[in-house]
Amino acid sequence: MKTVLRSLLLAFILCLVFSGMAYAGKGKAHKTENIIFVMTDGLRWQEVFFGAEESLLTKEHGVAIPELSQAAFWRNSPEARREALMPFLWKVMAQEGQVFGNQAKGSIAQVSNGLNFSYPGYSETFCGIADPRVDSNKKIPNPNLNVLEWLNGMRRYRNHVAVFGAWELFPYILNRQRSGLFINAGYEPISQVKLTPTYQVLNRLKDETTRLWHGEPLDSLTFETSLEYFKNEKPRVFFLSLGETDEWGHEGRYDKYLETARMADNCVKILWETAQSMRRYRNKTTLIFSTDHGRGNAPEGWKSHGEEMPNSENICMAFMGPDTPALGERNQTERVTASQIAATLAAFLGEDYRTAVPKAGEPIRDVLPQN
Ligand SMILES: [Zn+2]
Repeated sequence: MKTVLRSLLLAFILCLVFSGMAYAGKGKAHKTENIIFVMTDGLRWQEVFFGAEESLLTKEHGVAIPELSQAAFWRNSPEARREALMPFLWKVMAQEGQVFGNQAKGSIAQVSNGLNFSYPGYSETFCGIADPRVDSNKKIPNPNLNVLEWLNGMRRYRNHVAVFGAWELFPYILNRQRSGLFINAGYEPISQVKLTPTYQVLNRLKDETTRLWHGEPLDSLTFETSLEYFKNEKPRVFFLSLGETDEWGHEGRYDKYLETARMADNCVKILWETAQSMRRYRNKTTLIFSTDHGRGNAPEGWKSHGEEMPNSENICMAFMGPDTPALGERNQTERVTASQIAATLAAFLGEDYRTAVPKAGEPIRDVLPQN
């Protein structure tokens, strides 16, 4: 009897060893255990790669005090200008990671939905497909599966996925009702967690601060709420979406558009530095930065975007983490699209999103482990 038991046990162990080997052989070795993904709405690739545009730093483009904005953002070279605008992206992510989308260097990053506005842009990013049924910014629950929902459905990620959106549409874009994802969006007070004093103040400020836009509060309120959550709950997959860059663009305020782009960059920096100070995240976390659509050209197109607005399909994407080769600002690459982000995000974690959504854009190989 003992021998039977022993051989059964041996067979069982061998099974484990071989299935482990098969698994290791299939997936490439990766170090990423957590994802931090930040998007800021409607950020133009022109500013990301060339910094502030001289012809727009004027009163005609809503710049209240041109001398001040010029002092903050104007420099003689495009490299110095973009560093003044997004210091973390250029001094850290572009050094240690990869940045796609500089068309002047033959790197094209785009949304592929053809509509070039927010709901379709976020939907493409998270679902991995550009679904023609998703064609408005209305509060309609998204019929498509998204990668955050898919991860949250697995036991190892369940309740470790968190979404903070300045824009109130995220519960629809990511179909909160169906997905059951943790989402805090718009002016909603955070409530599903133990309310620390910080949360309590932030919830009050969301209520007490002047509402400039009915669909989203100021980014600082969403960001600080998300940061408190990040530190307390330590999610494995963390997504933050900021909205002011788009709002100020529509308002024709080039000064505020630049200031909020710089603030968005600073939010990414704070999140990253916070993560690196925590054992759970240090050297085990991949950072992704992108936008949901671009905007048109100067002199007037920069304020807007959409199907009819040339250039507003162009975006930027940046990746940094323990698995991403430090190739810096990319040049002469294959075109990359927002539809590839979902499978790329999953692949960093060693998961294959295309087993669930075969039509999703394929992972961006260059940012993933190369062995
Ligand atoms: Zn917009």
